[in-house]
Amino acid sequence: MAHQQALPTNSTIGILGGGQLARMLSLAATPLGYKTCIYCPEDNGPALDVCHSNIVGAYDDEQKLRAFANKVDVITYEFENIPAATIAYLDGLVNVHPNLISLQTAQDRLVEKDYLNKVGTQTAPYANVANKADLDAAIIQLGLPAILKTRTMGYDGKGQVVIKTPNDVAEAYKLIEDNIFADCILEGFIDFDLEISVIIARDVNDNVAIYEPSENDHKNHILDISTIPANVAPFIKDQAAALATNIIKGLDYVGIMGVELFVSSIANNPLIVNEIAPRVHNSGHWTQDACYISQFEQHIRAITNMPLGTTKRHSDVVMKNLIGDDVNKAADYASQENAHIHLYGKADIKPGRKMGHINLLYPFGQPKG
Ligand code: ATP
Ligand code: MG
Repeated sequence: MAHQQALPTNSTIGILGGGQLARMLSLAATPLGYKTCIYCPEDNGPALDVCHSNIVGAYDDEQKLRAFANKVDVITYEFENIPAATIAYLDGLVNVHPNLISLQTAQDRLVEKDYLNKVGTQTAPYANVANKADLDAAIIQLGLPAILKTRTMGYDGKGQVVIKTPNDVAEAYKLIEDNIFADCILEGFIDFDLEISVIIARDVNDNVAIYEPSENDHKNHILDISTIPANVAPFIKDQAAALATNIIKGLDYVGIMGVELFVSSIANNPLIVNEIAPRVHNSGHWTQDACYISQFEQHIRAITNMPLGTTKRHSDVVMKNLIGDDVNKAADYASQENAHIHLYGKADIKPGRKMGHINLLYPFGQPKG
């Protein structure tokens, strides 16, 4: 099929959200000749330092959203907690990528797991939990240990309670009580060996481009380090790529998607999908410096109808997140010749806040110290 016409130079990409992902998308759009307009409720933030224009507005302010749609040629978003109603409204005015169904699938853990299983992907066993009686029943059904999660709005491990023993149930009841707007989901605990993620892009012509998986280590429920290559067998990498392809195609998705997986030593079923993210992903930041085309450029290419680029990498790489006070270590990396520093320009340092990241490059196969 002939490739559709790419958006012309100087077109404007609208991005919902003003955080670091929007900042890096904006930075990647510029060399391709595109301008960006950021729409977010805050009047400052990482993306506002590097965009061509911005609109400060609430996600339910139809008048401002309409003004935004009038200014831009295509719309994307940097996080999955944008209200679906916002995307539904904008979608009637200008193309939005990824599409509404992808957002709705990724922003509700129950809908997400139902979808993943429908397309033949293994997930943790799960049950919907609307109240305490549901939790009691789900614990009998799935056994312990298990994790109770809010179905919506969770990130960086927020809105989760690990239930190892019956003593932890009280805390889980509290999560159900506090989470008044939506249900929770109980997931069986997966005894995984390691976590990997696949960053995959799809364009409007159904082409896909897949980066090789990263191995991800978390600290305090927040991504700490991604290592590439991941310490998994080639067949695991192939299987992860095949799963991600299946998932992205089934949603008619356009743009970058992050697919988080657990790898376990169960011989015939080593891969379990944890969740999908309908956006560029923290575990794909390594592509900025180790690949010819980063996940951010790839996303911009996909949503502007440019051909997708190569996902080849020229180096091994370790991506280290700078969380909270870690940002003070950034200066130490400045004299290290393999270190690429990415700071998000956030005004206040807070514990658990993602302030930046470092990509440490290594020649292929060299030990990472
Ligand atoms: P993030 O924003 O980092 O993706 P999140 O709030 O969306 O986090 P999850 O990805 O669901 O939360 O879970 C965070 C981490 O908790 C996972 O990366 C994994 O280490 C652990 N975890 C989550 N679900 C399970 C499970 N069912 N079994 C074992 N570990 C789990
Ligand atoms: Mg996750």
